[in-house]
Amino acid sequence: MALRKFVFFFLIISILGLPACQVSHELPPGTALKPVEVHARKIPQDFSKVTPVPTEVTPAPETVQVTAAVFQELPMAPMVMYHRFIPGGARSEKYKVSLSDLDRHLQGFYDAGYSLVALEDWLRGDMDLPEGRRPLIITIDDLFYADQIFLDDEGQAAPYSGIGRIWQFYQEHPDFNFHLALFYNMGDKGYANRYVNGSFYIESGWQEERAKAIAWCIENGALPYNHFFNHPNLSQLTPDQILWQLEENEAALREALSLVGKPELAKSSDNILALPYVIWPETDAGKQVLFDYQSPEGKPVAAILEANDGAHVRPILPPFSKSYDPHHVKRLNAVQEAIDAIIQKAGEIPTAAHCDLGEIPVDALENPFQMKQAILKQIRQGNCTNGYYTLGQFAFYVEEENVIQLSP
Ligand SMILES: [Zn+2]
Repeated sequence: MALRKFVFFFLIISILGLPACQVSHELPPGTALKPVEVHARKIPQDFSKVTPVPTEVTPAPETVQVTAAVFQELPMAPMVMYHRFIPGGARSEKYKVSLSDLDRHLQGFYDAGYSLVALEDWLRGDMDLPEGRRPLIITIDDLFYADQIFLDDEGQAAPYSGIGRIWQFYQEHPDFNFHLALFYNMGDKGYANRYVNGSFYIESGWQEERAKAIAWCIENGALPYNHFFNHPNLSQLTPDQILWQLEENEAALREALSLVGKPELAKSSDNILALPYVIWPETDAGKQVLFDYQSPEGKPVAAILEANDGAHVRPILPPFSKSYDPHHVKRLNAVQEAIDAIIQKAGEIPTAAHCDLGEIPVDALENPFQMKQAILKQIRQGNCTNGYYTLGQFAFYVEEENVIQLSP
């Protein structure tokens, strides 16, 4: 997914008096300004004698249709952590899930009302979901292996790879969404580029095939994040070595994407880290390297992910919650008891509703006061309810006609 998805679902730019046109959520400057028809004036023959007369055109205000996601209670999202996948009929293991089990997981999540949100959207406070669905975040660690993502002859994610299987489920259930967070190590593994009868083999040219698979992931909403170059035990490294692991991994991802002429794709992801083996650096100086790390694009670390075994579901809280700790975000390893626990807990995970705020001037989208007023108007008209409102960069809490800004 090259374009980031905002909370504004129906971003319809309209110019008063002109038919509205549907555009993507990003507003390239001038997109909305369709040429206004001006009556043609007679153009004198001799241009040299003419001083151009400026034509007065009153620019029509640009507006967008804005819809907020509303949660009656504090939104939260269980986060599951997958690793490898097993094609064929073998049984799942602690860090390898058979594709038939994966199918059951996905169906169970879906039937329990879960839909996927993008980790980086969540970390920005953007919790948009189809109405009535509850958020779930799927992460996959230790990429890129072919059993995780493999492209078929048509260049699409093959259903005999884990990500391909999730992609297939999404095609059949579009309201499940397709957002994955992929934690990659570019330095410690080869990529099998040939699939025969349920097995993968590495042959020459695998680097380019891996690069194509990475590009497919980014273009479709499975975004790569740093899991350190060689999947090291960080407690055994010096601060300098830790930094090298981060920077080398980022550089290798960009190099890979350059192989297929798409280095710019690496820039689209936010900067999120997951600890290999869930082991922190030994020293404070080592930990500080993680806290201070900036991506090559200068993005600060948005979160550091840990993980747990067992069946104790500790959903991620929104970044505007006082209890949210970006340096210790918990995930649950995708063994069957964990999946069962997440499904059983579904009733405690708030679902999203929608509040249609109507047509809002584009300028107001950056103005929290005006967004508050827009929400209040809908509350007073009885169109929307109390609760947590998230829309784009803003989050508000609404109660009894009080609209309190939570973030930023
Ligand atoms: Zn790992």
